[in-house]
Amino acid sequence: MTALINAKGLVRCYEGQKSLFKRATPVRAVDGVDLTVAPGETLGIVGESGSGKSTLGRMLLGIDPPTEGHVTFDSQPMPPLQSPSWRTLRAQMQLIYQDPLAALDRRLTIADQIGEPLEIHGLAKGAELKERVADLMVQVGLRRDQGDRYPHELSGGQRQRVVIARALATSPRLLVCDEPVSALDVSIQAQVVNLLRDLQDSHGIAMVFISHDLKVVRNICDRVAVMYLGRIVEEASSDQIFASPQHPYSQALVSSVPVPGKALEGRILLKGEPPNPALRPTGCAFHPRCGSAVAACASAVPLLEPVAAGRSSACHLSSVSKGLAA
Ligand code: ADP
Ligand code: MG
Repeated sequence: MTALINAKGLVRCYEGQKSLFKRATPVRAVDGVDLTVAPGETLGIVGESGSGKSTLGRMLLGIDPPTEGHVTFDSQPMPPLQSPSWRTLRAQMQLIYQDPLAALDRRLTIADQIGEPLEIHGLAKGAELKERVADLMVQVGLRRDQGDRYPHELSGGQRQRVVIARALATSPRLLVCDEPVSALDVSIQAQVVNLLRDLQDSHGIAMVFISHDLKVVRNICDRVAVMYLGRIVEEASSDQIFASPQHPYSQALVSSVPVPGKALEGRILLKGEPPNPALRPTGCAFHPRCGSAVAACASAVPLLEPVAAGRSSACHLSSVSKGLAA
């Protein structure tokens, strides 16, 4: 099947911090990422804060231009931000991010905000617009009569439902959800994740689901890409990642996911500093925090290579074991 999104060699540099005696050195927030998303598929992107997930998500939507590499949507090159063709494409790809209050306009009723994209893209007006808005509200679990409320009159979870309804209004083919439940109470996170999963399922929308919290992606993603310092270090099906993570970083992330009724006995605690692209270690960027690192890890960058059918890992140790097994 042709990919809906195809990203090749994506790099995104930011100007680093200047100091009095030093010129800013650019930091590579995303450092060579290839990925594809098939129509209707859900890809999870996980990793600690600072690993480049949000930057990658914005590049997939053409909001951040890549410093190197390119993105295609439906086999067409991503048009430049704000160009007429990008604006047209925007109806087909939507972004949902962490803070619904920041995404919403405090002065507009929620019905007006959900209807806005339909008006902007000329998809509905008058009575039809009203009906479409009411229908979207019901789809995301809001009541029709809540349409004349303002964002501050709703709970955090309800606000995120408004954002989701607005994102669905234009019948997108791709949703990028960047930490969509991280700002919500833990008690309602699962409800919103389930809602996204059901909508994704029933509408056949492809989804990129970004989270620093691996347990959030478990019930929603087909495939998971684990990022560390701007690179994908492991990619596999969601089941494979949870059952047998290959990369030591994925192993640490998986070990910290609580399993109901089980103590966190095998938890691998990550030592050292969280990832900072301004201080990228040599060789494998994860090696200073890795409990299994060998000498080669400090000098050579491991490539993301297939380790089994449908999965790849970027670790010298899996290359070694593969070499021994061959
Ligand atoms: P994540 O979403 O995984 O936390 P981000 O993509 O937000 O990662 O950030 C990756 C790195 O890029 C971080 O070190 C961050 O400080 C840096 N960064 C992100 N956005 C900018 C920006 N607009 N200007 C400068 N640096 C940025
Ligand atoms: Mg982020």
